[in-house]
Amino acid sequence: MKILFVATEAVPFAKTGGLADVAGSLPPALAGLGHDVRLVMPRYACVNPKQYGLRRTAEFAVPLGSWQERCEVLEGKLGENVTVYFINKDIYFDRAGLYQTRKGDFTDNAERFTFFSRSVLELCRAVDFAPDIIHTNDWQTGLTPFFLKNYYRGAAPFEHTRSIFTIHNLGYQGNFWHWDMRYLGDAWDHFNPDGFEFWGKISFLKAGLVYSDLITTVSRTYSREIQTKEYGHGLEGVLAKRPADLFGIVNGIDYAEWDPAHDGSIAKKFTPARPGGKADCKRQLQHKSGLRPDDVPVIGMVTRLVDQKGLDIVTEALPGIMELDSQLVILGTGEEKYHLLLTEAAAQYPGRMSVLLKYDDLLAKAIYAGSDLFLMPSRYEPCGLSQLISLRYGTIPVVRKTGGLTDTVQDYNPRTGTGTGFVFKEYTPAAMLKALERALAVYADPRKWKALMRSCMEQDYSWESSAREYEKVYRKALKRR
Ligand code: ADP
Repeated sequence: MKILFVATEAVPFAKTGGLADVAGSLPPALAGLGHDVRLVMPRYACVNPKQYGLRRTAEFAVPLGSWQERCEVLEGKLGENVTVYFINKDIYFDRAGLYQTRKGDFTDNAERFTFFSRSVLELCRAVDFAPDIIHTNDWQTGLTPFFLKNYYRGAAPFEHTRSIFTIHNLGYQGNFWHWDMRYLGDAWDHFNPDGFEFWGKISFLKAGLVYSDLITTVSRTYSREIQTKEYGHGLEGVLAKRPADLFGIVNGIDYAEWDPAHDGSIAKKFTPARPGGKADCKRQLQHKSGLRPDDVPVIGMVTRLVDQKGLDIVTEALPGIMELDSQLVILGTGEEKYHLLLTEAAAQYPGRMSVLLKYDDLLAKAIYAGSDLFLMPSRYEPCGLSQLISLRYGTIPVVRKTGGLTDTVQDYNPRTGTGTGFVFKEYTPAAMLKALERALAVYADPRKWKALMRSCMEQDYSWESSAREYEKVYRKALKRR
């Protein structure tokens, strides 16, 4: 199949969260199955053409409302098998942030991502690529299925093209006021509840849900949850209209990047059979993050500091966590209120609680490798990658039973020794603390803990089986008329 993968971030080029991990590793996995896969994304300021050996291969115009904007295409590679097209348009993308500054979202996001969503279709014409599948991801690309279905399908090179829309997070919808309709051209016929209108606004995410041929999301449990009022963010009705078109496929991770046996950036490499190096990683983490070099369990978090990730119950539970004989290290950026709350709390517990308010890949690795426990008490979690990374590094996840966390972490049973983490259900500080206490009780028994670490590290969440599931969905889409 010829597959065009459309995403607004991808490792190693640009990343704000899990979408980038997926867009950086699913396309190569699909190419590994023998498909012609190409990735298209914006060229942001952080993508240095020289560093990645990009070359200019095309230039074309993109219709935007009643006018056109010109852009060029820089071509590069992701791994050996995936061609990457960077849409180069400085007025939209030559900025430090991808979607926002510290003060909030860019005010021209509707224009930027309408442009991008349409540019990928013009790109196919410019580089003479006739995709069987256009695979779009999250609200930033939600208008591509809309444009394809209404303005492009039927004409070359899209005679047989089908679109897939993947929901990585239903909570981010790209809703814009109706004045932004001017970027979409003559599309008012679709500004209604059956189209992309959502409570008086244009919803880019809803456009993806309504106009794509098939929809996927990143775990089976989340695919069921989002059809309910509790998790549907107001879009449960739209999804419930197409239950047969919605598939849950769990994400994998790229073990070439996340593997303590080969990770040159951590203090000492280790494997399931010889986990000794993890102790060195822990000492280095304590040193780097200002924690005392005590022999107590270290609880790590690497996360966006937002409500979704359970930061409200974490901040409430901090005194309780500090009563447990443990240390806590949190790496993340996000809402200002959590920056303040966490900074204040860390000042109260010097040497036992460390708060690192930044985005830092190396520190993230140090935490995955050096912590004993990884805390992920999400309010909702489409898939979650951090718990998969933790498993690989023998860092036992303590997670809330929701979405992809339900599907990827099995609760530990001390009697049988089965399970890969500690799972709690209720979204409360008390339930989370109880799960942490259960975990620390097992930690106190080194034999049991070692066995648990080993079975965690041996879990396999590589991309191959998930890529095969996507392949099946693509084939289903191609059979659609
Ligand atoms: P989400 O995409 O909802 O933020 P995921 O668990 O799916 O959550 O993916 C988050 C990814 O971003 C992981 O690879 C995680 O390690 C990384 N990450 C999050 N915050 C930071 C940070 N402050 N520094 C480095 N990496 C981070």
